[in-house]
Amino acid sequence: MAIATVNPTTGLVEQEFDPIDETEIERRIAAAADGFVSLSKTSFEERAGWMRAAADLLEADVDELARLITVEMGRPIGQSRAEVLKSAKGMRFYADHAEEFLAPEWLPDPSAVNASAAGTRYEPIGVVLAVMPWNYPLWQALRFAAPALMAGNAGLLKHASNVPQAALYLDTLFERGGFPAGSFASLLIPASGVERVLRDKRIAAATLTGSEPAGRSLAAIAGSEVKHVVLELGGSDPFIVMPTADVPAAVSVAVKARVQNSGQSCIAAKRFIVHSDVYDEFLGLFAARMGELSVGDPLDESTDVGPIATESGRDELAGLVDDARAKGADIVVGGATPDRAGWFYPPTVIADVTPEMRLFAEEAFGPVATVSRVADAAEAVKLANSTTFGLSSAVWTNDPAEEDLFVRSLAAGGVFVNGMTASFPELPFGGVKDSGVGRELSAAGIREFCNLKTVWKG
Ligand code: NAP
Repeated sequence: MAIATVNPTTGLVEQEFDPIDETEIERRIAAAADGFVSLSKTSFEERAGWMRAAADLLEADVDELARLITVEMGRPIGQSRAEVLKSAKGMRFYADHAEEFLAPEWLPDPSAVNASAAGTRYEPIGVVLAVMPWNYPLWQALRFAAPALMAGNAGLLKHASNVPQAALYLDTLFERGGFPAGSFASLLIPASGVERVLRDKRIAAATLTGSEPAGRSLAAIAGSEVKHVVLELGGSDPFIVMPTADVPAAVSVAVKARVQNSGQSCIAAKRFIVHSDVYDEFLGLFAARMGELSVGDPLDESTDVGPIATESGRDELAGLVDDARAKGADIVVGGATPDRAGWFYPPTVIADVTPEMRLFAEEAFGPVATVSRVADAAEAVKLANSTTFGLSSAVWTNDPAEEDLFVRSLAAGGVFVNGMTASFPELPFGGVKDSGVGRELSAAGIREFCNLKTVWKG
């Protein structure tokens, strides 16, 4: 894929960029290694000040950045603005809490290990390579960068090839905030250039947010180099609705959970699993609401759903729907690629999905929802856990015993009760099964890229 801004609303190439050459890659890795040495001499307080200054810069650029996100990947403009503000909030969260999250811990009774004192401390590990996706071009990168830099690590970002201008903005953000030179930089390289960087001895660890094949490839290389990885991969999250739920409220949240970011969110609810007592009510309301959404220019404040970010992504999504249709699924609303410029796909609701259909097992990365009928909670859990993914989940019920069953039984990194999955700096984020390894955000996220050092004193 060329490194370029291609506007998904028009399909036109706005700006192309040359990948950096080997000399520049080497210069940037060397600068990051030096940046780590400089960072290791700084205090939490200093880093927190620079992080807050970088968050202020980001916030001051909110309108310009929101427009950039919308032009590069097509998100409705109000949601792009929200991403910028959420990113600044995440940066301030780590400025405020990093020192507390990484505080040394001493055993209350060191005599148990024959010591006068014994415990652990968290230390930074070096330069971390981050391979990031286009779908939240600032948030995904900053939810890695903020804890990594606050811990005292340096970061190198290989961003997705279709968001180069976001990558270039982030390239200078932290130095503009006051961080030492080399603390953070972007590498404009294609995916094929990741291996060379990851195998470099000056790179200590890596994180990748993106598709499962990309994650497997990165993890295999990191494994052969004995380097730690965090992987945030795909998801096909279930959204379960039981008879005690407030069905109209569940429908309102279901629509938002499916079409946020025009359906291109890893934690979007993708499979709606509904008890037969409320199935007809849910399906009728949900399909009606999905069909009413406005699809169009994402720079228009009133647009609900923008284009799919890439032509290949749109074609992949259409292929999943066409496969389901050919195998007998009921396309309740949507389901046809519109004849217009840009890479649009309408909000689509599909019932009667069976295991032979690709949609049953694969991730639909766009505004396409499947709705399935189940007889009881046990069947809901079985269907919810039937894919290889395990990112997050949502369940709507007002029965405490049922709630307890779902919270314990859903094979996922999160369970959200009577709401939709969202990420918060305060809570860990990540998946199980093929959705990934490790956690981002909260105390767990900042500790991922630290050396947990044991200290024992005789
Ligand atoms: P992708 O193709 O995997 O791209 C993500 C990043 O990985 C890009 O920077 C890409 O570079 C790079 N990449 C691709 N193949 C690679 C390889 N073999 N080795 C090293 N790097 C490689 O993902 P996408 O399709 O654009 O993004 C959508 C996917 O990301 C969905 O599956 C979604 O669920 C997942 N996602 C997960 C999370 C989460 O937190 N769990 C969040 C957002 C998205 P190029 O752009 O240069 O190819």
